[in-house]
Amino acid sequence: MTEKNPAAGAAPRVVTCPSCGRPVEWIAENRYRPFCSARCKGVDLGAWATEKYRVAATEEPKPEDQSE
Ligand SMILES: [Zn+2]
Repeated sequence: MTEKNPAAGAAPRVVTCPSCGRPVEWIAENRYRPFCSARCKGVDLGAWATEKYRVAATEEPKPEDQSE
């Protein structure tokens, strides 16, 4: 079939990791694509959730400067 010899000729497609910006080879071996690793994938999801929570938590109509 295929993938008998990965380094035979055509280079794998390379994308940029949305989390850290590193080049990621778009290959079947990389199950975390487009991320470079599970860690980056988790970080991205975590940031998304954190921001969501933050928005919900600061839903008060107060000015930025909340000094006494
Ligand atoms: Zn990454």
